[in-house]
Amino acid sequence: MREHDAVPVAVGSGTLNDIVKRSAHECERPYMCVGTAASMDGYTAFGASIEKDGLKQTLSCPAPRAVVADLDVLKCAPEDMTASGYADLLGKVTSGADWLIADALEVEKVDPTGWSLVQDHLREWTDSPAELRAGDQKATEHLMEGLIMSGLGMQSYQSSRTASGAEHQFSHLWEMEGLGHGETPLSHGFKVGVGSVAIAALYELILQRDLDIEDLCDSWPTREEMERSVWAQHTDPDLERGAVEQTLAKYISADELAQRLELLREVWPGLREKVREQLMPADQIRERLQAAGCPTSPFEIGLGWEDFEATYSRARTIRKRYTVLDLAFEAGILEECVADLFAPGASGAMRPVTRVARCSCSDVR
Ligand SMILES: [Zn+2]
Repeated sequence: MREHDAVPVAVGSGTLNDIVKRSAHECERPYMCVGTAASMDGYTAFGASIEKDGLKQTLSCPAPRAVVADLDVLKCAPEDMTASGYADLLGKVTSGADWLIADALEVEKVDPTGWSLVQDHLREWTDSPAELRAGDQKATEHLMEGLIMSGLGMQSYQSSRTASGAEHQFSHLWEMEGLGHGETPLSHGFKVGVGSVAIAALYELILQRDLDIEDLCDSWPTREEMERSVWAQHTDPDLERGAVEQTLAKYISADELAQRLELLREVWPGLREKVREQLMPADQIRERLQAAGCPTSPFEIGLGWEDFEATYSRARTIRKRYTVLDLAFEAGILEECVADLFAPGASGAMRPVTRVARCSCSDVR
């Protein structure tokens, strides 16, 4: 692009748009985009999702000057692409809950504009997954509108916080480890969808608790211990380095932890109600995803049972963004909750997944 001064136009979806967006920025010129599939929310977003130094990250760059999307074209996009966009949009249910938590614990305030662009109409945009799958024009319009608004939310807040929480950390970790890099690539949305079911299930367990927690601070890891535990959880050198940096960026001392837990005790009754209102049950998220044609269990995306279970702890380390994974870790209940989710005969939200696990373990990677 540096050899001429033309204005680039991306015609396509996720990856094409991200590459053109970042290139246009590096060449200091505007660009525009013709979206051909309702497959992700990056069209109007600030930033491009690109893997750099082994870490999938959002590289900073402005959004396009204009986005054009024709419903007749979107309707004819491959079914899986539309389903992926749906899963990415439904992921805003759990990411919103994560932001409420970060806000209440005074880690990151909710920005009213960024919040309302994404959350105000989320229920309406995601309530007809079966119609969407059948190619219904209205449902397609709702989905694309949601994805465009979600991108605008990120643009307005200059961060992906508006659209991405722990469910995206699951997706990013799997992506960075090469999950689905085989013959049929696994889309961003499909990984986010499985992550959303997993995070909603964790939320269900946490919301049942009183979180009246004291005396944890003696067992809280020092900075060095935390660093060592992150190294121990990853094996890829680039991923390790990035994860250590991100985890230490959100590290707090034992004294700060004591203060945070005190604040948590104070705000929990009100916060719990707010989060309940924001969330959907894991079963409902699973049903909606299935109706839209998305995978909902780790096996459908080629992930083994143990790797899936380990993701709860490992995903927390790869981003400094504060989510329910941090809340559970700091409250000392993450391990316990995950053990409950995966216990044989578990009766909670993971039950349908557990059942699949018991009968198909020989097929699992
Ligand atoms: Zn996403």
